[in-house]
Amino acid sequence: MLEKLTSADTEKSPLAKVEKLTAVKGMNDILPPDSARWEWLEEKVRSLMGRYAYRNIRTPILEHTQLFVRGIGEVTDIVEKEMYSFDDRADKYGDRDHLTMRPENTASVVRAVTEHNLLYDGGKRLYYMGPMFRRERPQRGRYRQFHQIGAEALGFSGPEVDAELILLAAALWKELGLTDWRLEINSLGQPEERAEHRIQLIAHFEQHADALDDEAHRRLYTNPLRILDSKNPAMKAVIESAPRLIDFLGSQSLAHFDGLKAILDANSIQWTVNPRLVRGLDYYNLTVFEFMTDRLGAQGTICAGGRYDYLMEQMGGKAAPAVGWALGVERVLELIREQGETVALSVPDAYAVIPEASNLSVALQTLQALRAAGVSVQMHARLSTEEMGTMKSQFKKADGSGARFALIFGASELAGGCVAVKPLRGDKAEAAQAQTLQPLDNVLAWAHTLRS
Ligand code: ATP
Ligand code: MG
Repeated sequence: MLEKLTSADTEKSPLAKVEKLTAVKGMNDILPPDSARWEWLEEKVRSLMGRYAYRNIRTPILEHTQLFVRGIGEVTDIVEKEMYSFDDRADKYGDRDHLTMRPENTASVVRAVTEHNLLYDGGKRLYYMGPMFRRERPQRGRYRQFHQIGAEALGFSGPEVDAELILLAAALWKELGLTDWRLEINSLGQPEERAEHRIQLIAHFEQHADALDDEAHRRLYTNPLRILDSKNPAMKAVIESAPRLIDFLGSQSLAHFDGLKAILDANSIQWTVNPRLVRGLDYYNLTVFEFMTDRLGAQGTICAGGRYDYLMEQMGGKAAPAVGWALGVERVLELIREQGETVALSVPDAYAVIPEASNLSVALQTLQALRAAGVSVQMHARLSTEEMGTMKSQFKKADGSGARFALIFGASELAGGCVAVKPLRGDKAEAAQAQTLQPLDNVLAWAHTLRS
């Protein structure tokens, strides 16, 4: 519930010193020039998704809490302790919705696909990008608002779609210039196979009960598979000696796994089987996989996913197989930075130097025409005084903007129906010589000479 504003808040004198407001812990502002890296990544993803025929889906950030409890599983880190949930205000009947800010997007995608019956005419390939929210301990590569890009293929059961998704991720790493990654895969089999393994797994952990931490004790009978996912180094030995799920798989599950491996091999994608890879969410079966790197410290997983053939039905939809992955945008960008990969920052093509305010109007019309022709132009604007600033200060701004050209809207040029175009890069003498006059009434004739 919103607290009432106190009189102290509303009656403060405008001159009283107000406390500085800061962002919420674990939630980051993404500022220029860094935001250009985000746009660059998003552009690459959009283009690539298009080539693999994945289409964009956008679901709300707020969902009913029950969606994630059912979709992700009650006994998971996310649902047990990481969700941002609250009671909405009561409606006119006094009923309140219990809402949660999405901690991941797969459950919402499945809800939307079911709600709108998207699979009525066959399988669908979808992708999303956006913020997710988890109340974790903030540290490098782990935030409370973070961003995922995800791809989901719903309605397809064969290993070729698992492979397609992995190939898509590998193609993305290539486009982004990322080389320091490895792929781990595993198969979680089918529910019956897991049931048999579960019995043996519980027996193993019961035998070594003194080696388990509190969390493992708590999960022993509710979700023993998740104990394998523990990051507690003290439990390494008891986890490594545990029975392996892969040894319980039947021939069909193994054939699916082999089918995937064969396609990866044929496409020269290196993989290793990690029998302890179980994933943090409950809904997976058959294929699971993670792309990891050693260059990001403890938060080394950059992309993770798997098959979730039972989730649609579990969420009240018609049963349909599905598979997907999600990558952590912050971690991928950090890895790009670690590798020293440079991203071209966006700078304007030209900077408009406007010595006198009386010439702003005609200058702006020219800038409109240039921008319509695809040129990026930064206009000189007054800071706080009535004056436009000296030519010297305007040129300093032009230089600082990174633009390659200055457009000089001086009174004498304008009187002749022209603007002066001055190259800002290269040595001074060269630039002075290369300065040209261009007609204002035919912008299209020279606009292309400014475009990078
Ligand atoms: P982790 O084991 O690192 O906690 P997870 O299994 O919880 O990851 P998923 O739910 O599979 O992660 O999310 C997919 C990807 O999203 C992760 O591989 C990671 O790159 C990224 N990610 C997950 N949680 C965070 C977070 N709190 N901050 C930044 N990125 C995250
Ligand atoms: Mg996690």
